[in-house]
Amino acid sequence: MKRRTFLKNAGLATAAISAMPSLCTGCRPSTDGKLMLMRYDTEWWGEPAEMAGFFEKLVEIHRTDHIPVSLFCKGATLEKMKSEFMAFQEEIVNDPLFDLQDHSYSHIGLGYEKGKPLEVLEADYRRSFNIHEEIFSERPIGISICGTRDDGRPVSGFDATEKSKAEFEMVVELGTKMINTFLSGIDGSKEFVNYGSLGHPEVMGFISGLSDTAWMDRKEFGDPVDYVLNEIRTRSAQNFHMPVMFHDWVAWQKAPDKELTHVRRIAEAGKEAGYKLVTHMDCYNNKPLWQQNEINLVSYKDLAGKIFWRK
Ligand SMILES: [Zn+2]
Repeated sequence: MKRRTFLKNAGLATAAISAMPSLCTGCRPSTDGKLMLMRYDTEWWGEPAEMAGFFEKLVEIHRTDHIPVSLFCKGATLEKMKSEFMAFQEEIVNDPLFDLQDHSYSHIGLGYEKGKPLEVLEADYRRSFNIHEEIFSERPIGISICGTRDDGRPVSGFDATEKSKAEFEMVVELGTKMINTFLSGIDGSKEFVNYGSLGHPEVMGFISGLSDTAWMDRKEFGDPVDYVLNEIRTRSAQNFHMPVMFHDWVAWQKAPDKELTHVRRIAEAGKEAGYKLVTHMDCYNNKPLWQQNEINLVSYKDLAGKIFWRK
């Protein structure tokens, strides 16, 4: 079982850090195995015609290859492409391979240093959830966190400031049951958590990372698929769960073909590496995965006044 350094606070003496208990030793049930969580943040802002064929291909390849997937849909995109989304939902309704969740109305940022006022955030999420309900006849229970250039840097987690705590509380009150793992000192790309430390043990934090905006759109790591396959091998060897974050517009407009070939290759490599492919809803329904986590953090301040967390 891995150990994790959960203190980033350089102000603490090394001896004090090494004396502290490892936060997550034993927290991941070994019976769950390694999970691979693929998602598309669905947020296209341009002409719907530029996404023509995407949903059809998505349904085709995810069904043919049995690749579970979650779509986190932006409310404004749902509104603009209402007929496309309605046709898509009609096709996939009751198919457990597909999971539809939320990505805010306007791509507004949760948990940022210069984020919008709480009431602006609330209005944005309320509007998005209402559009989901109107189009899909069902309110979302999951959010993937987004943001804009104006929002500044992310804070270290929802636990970091009074405002970020209030932002978390607000989305929970709107009905959110799952959102990115976003707690200070916890690697959100590797750990499922519950939010018991913020008074909501019923809310799941899910792993998130490996955005295709970096590896496919901006090609920051050389060949896009080689990079992801290498990450799969590395994480598998370390026994970590594996998130992959696609975007509708990157997968369709920036990939080498319009066959979603890269998605198929990544899913196949995940299966070969021993990953079980799941949707976010599958993870939420797998309560031992995140409810038995012993993460129940208490904040402390060191001598320099910096906050750290431990059990
Ligand atoms: Zn986004």
